[in-house]
Amino acid sequence: YYNNETLIYFNGKFVKAKDAQTDLYGQSLHYGYSVFEGIKSYKTDLGTKIFKAEEHYDRLRRSAELMHIPFSYTTQELTDLTYELLERNRLDDAYIRPLVFCSPNMGLTKGKESYLTILAWEWNNGYLSGRVRVMTSSFQRPNPQAFLMEAKVGGHYVNSILASQEAKDKGYDEALVLDEKENVAESSGANVFYEKGGVLFTPAKGSILPGITRQTVFEICNELNIPVKETFFKPEEMRGADAAFFCGTAAEIVGLDSLDDIPFTKNWDDTKSKVIQDAYQKVVRVRSL
Ligand code: PMP
Repeated sequence: YYNNETLIYFNGKFVKAKDAQTDLYGQSLHYGYSVFEGIKSYKTDLGTKIFKAEEHYDRLRRSAELMHIPFSYTTQELTDLTYELLERNRLDDAYIRPLVFCSPNMGLTKGKESYLTILAWEWNNGYLSGRVRVMTSSFQRPNPQAFLMEAKVGGHYVNSILASQEAKDKGYDEALVLDEKENVAESSGANVFYEKGGVLFTPAKGSILPGITRQTVFEICNELNIPVKETFFKPEEMRGADAAFFCGTAAEIVGLDSLDDIPFTKNWDDTKSKVIQDAYQKVVRVRSL
C-alpha cells in the first residue's frame, strides 16, 4: 500500500505514511467506531478524474453525522485535498480511502474529537475479466435495528470479514450475505443484481449499504432502457438465473459464475449484465455510453 516516499493527508497536513503516528487510546481502534469511504480515480482523456467524489464525500459526512462523530470538512474541501494527494503521489488509477476516527477517548459515548486521514494507492482491476464463484454465507448481515446500515462504519466490516473468509476457506471467491429475514442483501463489500428474462433485480434498501455503483447501474439502465426492479427476494429466486453481478467501487461490475455451485445459465457476452459492465467502464472514464 505504501513505500518510503508515499504521502498521506493527516489532520491538516500532507505527511509521509511511514512517519504518521496516532495514539492507542481511542474508540475507533478498540470498538470499530470510525467512518470511511472507498473511492476510485481513473486516468481519462481529460486527466485524472475521481469518480463521483461528491456522492462519496456526502456519504462520508452523512455517516459521521449518523455516528455522532464530529466532522467539519466540506465536500469541496475533501475533493480538493484528494486531487492534491493524487498529484503529490503521481497516481491516476487509484483507490482512495478517507477514514474519520475518534481519539483520545475510551468511553462508550459519542466521539469528542475526530481525525481525518486520506490514503491512496495504485489500483488496477484484475477481477473484471473473470467470473466469481459465490456461496451463500452462514453469516447474516447485522440486524438493521442494531446498526445504522446506510452508514459506512468500520465496525460493520467485521461481519464482512467473517463472511468473506468463510467463503474463501470453503474454496469460493466470495460470499452472498442474507438479511435477518433470509432475503438476499449483498456481498461482503459490494451490492448484487441478478438478471432473468432481460430484467434486472436488486435487493431493496434496508439491510444493505446503498452503493454509489448500484445507483450508477440504475442510471445506466435508465439510459439504455434496461428494466430494473428493487425488491426483496430469496437466494432460491436468484440461483440458476440468466446472470448475476456484484457491483461496488472496488469490484466495479464483476460477473458471477455460480451461486452455491449452481451456474448462471446464459453466456455472459449475451446478457444485459455484460452491456452494463461495458457501459460502466465508459462512464468512469468519462466517455459517453
Ligand atoms: N455494500 C458494502 C457492504 C460495501 O462495502 C460496498 C463498498 N463500499 C458496497 C455495498 C458498494 O458501495 P459503493 O458502490 O458505494 O462502493
